[in-house]
Amino acid sequence: MADQDVIVIGAGGGGAVIAKELGEMGLNVLVLEAGPWYGNKKWPHPNQQPGAKFSSHYNDLDISLYRQLFNKYEANMNDLVFGRLRWGPANRSLPQWFRKTNQKALIWQNSGIGGTTQTYTANSPRAFPEAVDHVWPLSYQELVPYYEKVEAILPVNFAPTTAKEDLFYFGAKQAGWELIPTLNVTTPGFRPQPNAILPPNKNLTNPTIPLEQLSLLEGCTLAGHCINGCPHGPSMDKIAKRSTNVSYIPLALRTGNVKIRPNAFTIKIITENKASSDSSAIGVIVRDVWTGEQEELLADAVVMAAGSIESPRLWLNSGLPKNPWVGKGLVNHYMDWLTGIFDEKDLNLILGCETIDPFVGHTCGARLDYPGLGSLQTVGMSPGLTASFYGMSESGYNILHPTIPNRHEDSQGRIIGYELKELMTNYRKTLSIVLCTDDEVDQRNGVTVDPFISDEHGPIPIVQYKPTKRSIKRQSELAKMAANILRKAGAKKIIRSNWPSGVMIHLESTMRMGFVVDQNCESYQVKRLYIADNSVHFNSIGGANPTLTTQALATRTAEKLFEKYFSK
Ligand SMILES: Cc1cc2nc3c(=O)[nH]c(=O)nc-3n(C[C@H](O)[C@H](O)[C@H](O)COP(=O)(O)OP(=O)(O)OC[C@H]3O[C@@H](n4cnc5c(N)ncnc54)[C@H](O)[C@@H]3O)c2cc1C
Ligand code: SF4
Repeated sequence: MADQDVIVIGAGGGGAVIAKELGEMGLNVLVLEAGPWYGNKKWPHPNQQPGAKFSSHYNDLDISLYRQLFNKYEANMNDLVFGRLRWGPANRSLPQWFRKTNQKALIWQNSGIGGTTQTYTANSPRAFPEAVDHVWPLSYQELVPYYEKVEAILPVNFAPTTAKEDLFYFGAKQAGWELIPTLNVTTPGFRPQPNAILPPNKNLTNPTIPLEQLSLLEGCTLAGHCINGCPHGPSMDKIAKRSTNVSYIPLALRTGNVKIRPNAFTIKIITENKASSDSSAIGVIVRDVWTGEQEELLADAVVMAAGSIESPRLWLNSGLPKNPWVGKGLVNHYMDWLTGIFDEKDLNLILGCETIDPFVGHTCGARLDYPGLGSLQTVGMSPGLTASFYGMSESGYNILHPTIPNRHEDSQGRIIGYELKELMTNYRKTLSIVLCTDDEVDQRNGVTVDPFISDEHGPIPIVQYKPTKRSIKRQSELAKMAANILRKAGAKKIIRSNWPSGVMIHLESTMRMGFVVDQNCESYQVKRLYIADNSVHFNSIGGANPTLTTQALATRTAEKLFEKYFSK
């Protein structure tokens, strides 16, 4: 007999959602998460000691502990090798888990309860309808009620306007773009970012409330640095930035049916082969990342929500049936970054103040969407991260080709030394825009496993991405649009970083719907095996940030899984 009804592998963007939904339907759910749990009394020192085995009660959540651990210091939180938010084991004195790439790459994912949503900036737009309709095996209309449900639960709100959004709207209007006040984007235009961030704290402008006290109340403080984790709020389920560890996980625990086990790396899906039928998933083998012990756990259904690299890796390492699309078709929004530097005088005229202070407010509070090309978003990172993004380039050192005639930007490439110092001195007068390209699925891109190198969890993943010609063209159109907006807003100098194509922040589509899973996200080849993460997207959803779509799909998948296997 199975130990539980459903095992969910991974507690990130998708896993936390399906666990909560199935728990509410009355199923016994066990969530296995490879990384640590921050803010749970059962793991008071999550990076130093193993702590307990699992937690299943809302009362285990502890806001004081969470605040102690999430201090927003960039290196402490987001150092990709040793930070609290990294792809690695809870024990930070151990290295991160290794991935191999054959190109310049930055693969940015987190382990831990909340997964990569611990770091994410919470932008929660819907997919572009034209990227789904007549393209995916299900229609956009079928997704809408699930979008609405997730938007209400998180909840999603339009971002408030601070100086960087104001300046972006000004530039976009000057460049001839129009406001599109809609969630279902069918025409190009700009709008406030739909964000999974609570509305601003009601006492924000009350001078009698000290800053420290403000951060203990409900609502966003607009203090910025969301990417380093947000500790603002009165309780774990009211933290301003709605990563799944503070939104869906508390709700999952409240159902009383969901047990969550961190520090538990699933290394194999166990299947049963019945002579006359397809194989079925019946459980998993899990490895405790502190002790190295392995255990077999059985369930009536298994959900992979390990993300776009680890879900295909797990399939391949489990020896599941061959499928030419497993791990293939990776898209990553082929991103780039442009920065405009402004004069105090001009800023004064437009904003009524001399600085933009890009770190204030939501990290990405405004966007411009262009179905068919992708999206542009304002981005106000903390200074260390901003400086590191000037250092990533496919063009080599900027100093080697400081001016590019007939280009929309003034310079391109990696900025170092004196120029970087000057740029960072002007940091408060810069506006940056990140591009998310509607990049094309190409079967040559994706995840395979290394035939020679293994770690303690099996053969390691090799990740490969090279944009197609069409993706390159779309990215270059978006860069032109971004430069034009910055110029029209008054930028005196525009720098394009020209990021390497291997900057992987939005990984999607490696276990595609219609190829690896059906439209209900059940595997074609292994029954009772479902997927509820970014990997099931059919494509790059038009260039809109991916998580809301994953969460809408995970909500739908829970319904379909329940109907098929548990409703009688
Ligand atoms: C800097 C940054 C900013 C971002 N901002 C946004 C944004 O604003 N909006 C947006 O939509 N998206 C954003 N994203 C992307 C977003 O974080 C992802 O889309 C989302 O987290 C993906 O959800 P997922 O479930 O596919 O994977 P994840 O959230 O990565 O969750 C996978 C989980 O599975 C666990 N896991 C993996 N393998 C195993 C295993 N074998 N056993 C057990 N557990 C396992 C992992 O530890 C992890 O917790 C951002 C990402 C980054 C890095
Ligand atoms: S600006 Fe970001 S980090 Fe600050 S309170 Fe709001 S969501 Fe949290």
